[in-house]
Amino acid sequence: MAENVKATEAKSIELPANLTVRELAEAIEASPIQIIKTLMSNGVMANINQHIDFDTAAVVAAEMGYEATLLKVDELESKPVGEVPLWRQLIANEDKKNLKPRAPVVTILGHVDHGKTTLLDAIRQTSVVNEEAGGITQHIGAYQASHKERLITFLDTPGHAAFTAMRSRGAQGADVVILVVAADDGVMPQTKEALAHARAARVPIVVALTKVDRPNANPELVKKQLADNGLIPDEWDGDTIVVPVSAKQKVGLEDLLEAILLVADNTEILANPAGEVIGTVIEGERDPSRGVIATLLVQNGSLKMGDTVVVGTAYGRLRAMFDFAGKKIEEAGPSTPASVLGLNDVPVAGEPFRVVENEREARNLVAERAEKEKADKNSPVGALTLESMFEAFQAGHVRELRLIVKADVQGSLEPIVSSLEAMKSKDKEGEIGVHVLHTGTGNISESDIQLAGASKAIVMGFNVVADGPAQRKAEKEGVSIRLYDIIYRMTEDVEKALKGMLKPELKERVIGKAEVLQVFKISRYGKIAGCRVTEGELRRGAFLRIYRDKTLVYEGELTSLKHEKDDVKEVKTGFECGINLKDFDDFKEKDVIECYVRELVAAQ
Ligand code: GDP
Repeated sequence: MAENVKATEAKSIELPANLTVRELAEAIEASPIQIIKTLMSNGVMANINQHIDFDTAAVVAAEMGYEATLLKVDELESKPVGEVPLWRQLIANEDKKNLKPRAPVVTILGHVDHGKTTLLDAIRQTSVVNEEAGGITQHIGAYQASHKERLITFLDTPGHAAFTAMRSRGAQGADVVILVVAADDGVMPQTKEALAHARAARVPIVVALTKVDRPNANPELVKKQLADNGLIPDEWDGDTIVVPVSAKQKVGLEDLLEAILLVADNTEILANPAGEVIGTVIEGERDPSRGVIATLLVQNGSLKMGDTVVVGTAYGRLRAMFDFAGKKIEEAGPSTPASVLGLNDVPVAGEPFRVVENEREARNLVAERAEKEKADKNSPVGALTLESMFEAFQAGHVRELRLIVKADVQGSLEPIVSSLEAMKSKDKEGEIGVHVLHTGTGNISESDIQLAGASKAIVMGFNVVADGPAQRKAEKEGVSIRLYDIIYRMTEDVEKALKGMLKPELKERVIGKAEVLQVFKISRYGKIAGCRVTEGELRRGAFLRIYRDKTLVYEGELTSLKHEKDDVKEVKTGFECGINLKDFDDFKEKDVIECYVRELVAAQ
């Protein structure tokens, strides 16, 4: 009896406003073929990757025994995807009645030369308020434009750098991304990367189709390319607003601002102006005459003159504040960029800042952080690897395995991506799936690593290699790269990772060798070995073994490394360096030093 009831009752399911046939199939646990057939019987021809709207999806779902309701945007946003930025958490905890609308924060991404800078300048010239005519245009990394008496904050360092810096520090500052695509050039590799960044950060996108004044502009073709990448233009019943603009002729700029406000109005862009003051560093520099100047974007609360601010391990009392036009201000509320004087050190862009009670509290906080930084340095890096993935799932840090997939040819990319995306696993918290953030053909590049670093993703390559700069960046940022030449092995590893079966092994890798040329005695330090690096590099924080006539005389950590008089992180082949160890100083000329790192690698 109970069985019967179950079979006739429609199961309820929440679906987004737009989804692909494949996503619908997954959501209602049907095969994509079934979905395609049902769509066909309803007169809709669609392939597996095609986007369908909610109404269509709901009809299909109903035929398969599901009652679909529309998934609200804020629920979508509150889904655990990596860490929620500190300031968003804070706003979420504010009393709802204190929350007020704030200006949307917009960032511009897109392929090089597609017109990002020109567009930012054009908007600034036409729509910026309270900038004195003929005044010097200040570039503090952000400005505010106005449209229909509403403000929009633009982060005006175009390109990935600023956005990625924010994201990799968990700030995710922007509320809307403008994806710039030149109408005469179309979707290019960096357009796709930018799209992947925006999607991974779950920030809504408005497309600015730039350079429409160019004679060879082909907006229709570009719209088709956008649709192929999942950005269906609104005029084709999709939900991506595509605004044709010519920054050169200043055409379409108002429409673009209108579109930004429209998108912004669909998401709740709120903050408590009277709440705790928190925000993100946009830029920081040291000015020879004025000291440290930092641009801060306030995200909650109101920053005031005389406030004590802490950013990372820098702090100070604000002794001057200016708006983006260089005008002195006393206070900056949510979504306002302010350039400030008074910090004792240059803060890092993308880092969160907060206001504390007084300088003593600031000093305590900074001391605590400095301690923690030191401790973090001494413990192995917590980089995300396929092997450590399952622990991260268990700890609730991540709920999906994010991948960037590169392959030699398009033909191999498609089957790889579809088989990876189909993989899932369940644990006590629910389902863990694979989210392929970005795909491409060709070798793994620096920008793949940048995307992976900021998105906490793993890079997988099939029949490709990582180029030199990419390898170096990956090592520096702790991004894990996996290379394969058999598809089966790739999917097998991902499957094992999802089930926590891929236990890492600690392995040693020799990264360099050196020879002791001379031994010095310095009263303050004891003995120092003057060496020349003969192979690879010596790296501070790595481990070393000292051999004398092939016999091991010491093994330990390389704690201090100098080049001439400076402390350095690494010294490469052909260069000389000084080594001083805490618990060993019995160096002899001609000793051979082997430098190695310990890393977690896949169990074979
Ligand atoms: P970015 O690298 O994306 O910041 O691109 P830029 O803003 O530097 O623009 C690249 C080139 O395209 C420059 O030579 C601009 O003058 C030109 N450009 C930008 N926008 C337009 C436009 O709307 N129309 C035309 N004809 N040229 C443009």
